[in-house]
Amino acid sequence: QGSELQGRVALVTGASSGIGRASAIALAAAGAQVVVNHRAAGDSQARAAAVVEEIQRSGGQAVTAAADISREDHVDLLFKAVIAHYGRLDILINNAGIEQPAPIADMTLADWQRVIDVNLTGHFLCARAAAKQFTLNPANPARQGLATGNIIFISSVHEVIPWAFQVNYAASKGGIAMLMKSLAQELGPAKVRVNSIAPGAIRTPINQPAWDTPDSLANLLKLIPYGRIGEPEDVARAAVWLASDASDYVTGTTLFVDGGMTLYPEFRGAG
Ligand code: NAD
Repeated sequence: QGSELQGRVALVTGASSGIGRASAIALAAAGAQVVVNHRAAGDSQARAAAVVEEIQRSGGQAVTAAADISREDHVDLLFKAVIAHYGRLDILINNAGIEQPAPIADMTLADWQRVIDVNLTGHFLCARAAAKQFTLNPANPARQGLATGNIIFISSVHEVIPWAFQVNYAASKGGIAMLMKSLAQELGPAKVRVNSIAPGAIRTPINQPAWDTPDSLANLLKLIPYGRIGEPEDVARAAVWLASDASDYVTGTTLFVDGGMTLYPEFRGAG
């Protein structure tokens, strides 16, 4: 157990699986009290409860909180629940995201809208609520000079790599890049740091067909100079660093955690 996030309260959206789950566990192991958001009752509720149990078994503190982050009314209630439970908020990990691929001619407005609603508008709603909360917090004198709030967007390598058949997803992640930078510029004077993590191919349910057979994994590895698929913990460690004072003075940047996927690997040996 670390202590770099002792006394901090962190909200992780979409934390019942994958990168959100690993980040919640890692933040708690670093001493944060963690709110494990999940979308709804049912399966995701049970998975979120299992994340909280795992954190508590290791001596950490966490609670679950249901909310569909694409809905303004849900986000309002989510932030009220965080403050009611822990009395403050220091760190927002804007993680929840979905894919809904289709060739452009078949992509319905609903396919487009749903992905934008969750991946971009949902991240805006949570960032807005966090910003309001952070600027309400009187600066803690023990942390004078350091950030009084921290927002981390989980974007994607697709904030820079175009993605055929996923124009909705790539547009949402490209949008995150400018949302993040503009917010970092706006909130710097309030001592709020804002950054993104852009994961490459990480072994989670969202992209299971890309890694769950030997053939698909071999194809995927051609895109990754570092020669292995990423694990959720690779991203979680970066999230802890960005959330902690160790990264003070880092704001408005995207940290690529991608095994080199954005390095144009097809140029190895070319020319
Ligand atoms: P995942 O499917 O395991 O996790 C996504 C989580 O978001 C799920 O728990 C889901 O229930 C939740 N969610 C979806 N819609 C929601 C909503 N409206 N409200 C609240 N929660 C909602 O996949 P993951 O890979 O862990 O994805 C996490 C983030 O990482 C996403 O933003 C994704 O775009 C991004 N990402 C993943 C990869 C990868 O290779 N796995 C690569 C780049 C970026």
